[in-house]
Amino acid sequence: MSKKMKLHNFNSGPSILPPSVLEKAAAAILDFEGSGLSILEIGHRTALFQQVMDEAVQSVKSLMQIGDDYEVLFLHGGATTQFMQVPMNLLDTHETAAYCDNGIWGNKAIKEAAHFGNVQVVTDSTGNKHTRIDKDFEVDPAAKYLHFTTNNTVEGTQWHNLPNTSVPLVADMSSDIFYAPRNFNQFSLIYAGAQKNMGAAGVNMVVVKKEILGKISRKIPTIMDYQKHIAAGSLMNTPPVFAIYVSLLTLRWIMEEGGLSEMQLRNTAKSNLLYQTIDSLPVFEARVAKEDRSLMNAVFFLKDQSLEESFLSLCKQEGMIGVKGYRTVGGVRVSMYNAMPLSSVETFCELMKHFASKHG
Ligand SMILES: *Cc1c(COP(=O)(O)O)cnc(C)c1O
Repeated sequence: MSKKMKLHNFNSGPSILPPSVLEKAAAAILDFEGSGLSILEIGHRTALFQQVMDEAVQSVKSLMQIGDDYEVLFLHGGATTQFMQVPMNLLDTHETAAYCDNGIWGNKAIKEAAHFGNVQVVTDSTGNKHTRIDKDFEVDPAAKYLHFTTNNTVEGTQWHNLPNTSVPLVADMSSDIFYAPRNFNQFSLIYAGAQKNMGAAGVNMVVVKKEILGKISRKIPTIMDYQKHIAAGSLMNTPPVFAIYVSLLTLRWIMEEGGLSEMQLRNTAKSNLLYQTIDSLPVFEARVAKEDRSLMNAVFFLKDQSLEESFLSLCKQEGMIGVKGYRTVGGVRVSMYNAMPLSSVETFCELMKHFASKHG
């Protein structure tokens, strides 16, 4: 190929990052801030890296509008590690935690929590194939916390309001962190793997309200203990230096672009356009309840399943990357994270219309 085709990266994660973030990350690999060293070569206990860590923590606090009652950690292990680290730190053996089962990730979190205490599954959308989020449920007031996944990456549903409960909220925000303003002060613990909406794979952000820690009798292995990470300022051992730097670059980008309300405007415009296009073309079908549709990951189907393969191969041919649905769900999944420009969604919608005109 002599002329490079323009690619539209709809990957679900790792996923699209702003071009300016990639350029700055690439430059830092060769020479980090004029130090003459690569960011891959600097010590994590140097002033150079401490500035990165401090600014990243401050940026998160400022975007979330949270105060000093919260701590921000950057840890290894991805969101999957948090499935066990959360109950290990918060849930004593004889205590109960409430969990929402609205998709594959929440379900994995439930299985891990069961290793540490009692789990009360308060809502389970398996019966409707996770196409709806049931918000009408009771949580035992004695439950230590309620865990839920704010955005179900695989199934394409999203919580647009907080669950109605007085127990502390713990949320996996891996795929919609910073997609819009939220009342972050309502949460006791938030975690997110960076590779969907805030950076590169290899780092996990944990935001925790200090008052919920230190209340269990279990002995916690040092590397798993939030309080020890807080005491060490996320520098207990070597942190994922480069991944944290890419997160910082993305956080700076969000702020330069206008912050979370601007992200919300953009994400609303993109997802409105895509869902309107799906709804207007009888060839396609979105099964998720309208009120629960995700602004980040739109999951939909070809009404005639035998057309799926030809639609997906047309997408591939036209440079639409990563739109095949998750293996257990099938269909099409279009991920539209913060860095995704409206123009790519427009191009994708044109392709859908073109396909519909041939197969309508
Ligand atoms: C991708 C994802 C995970 C898993 O993240 P890892 O970093 O791969 O462990 C967990 N929860 C949600 C909501 C996700 O989208």
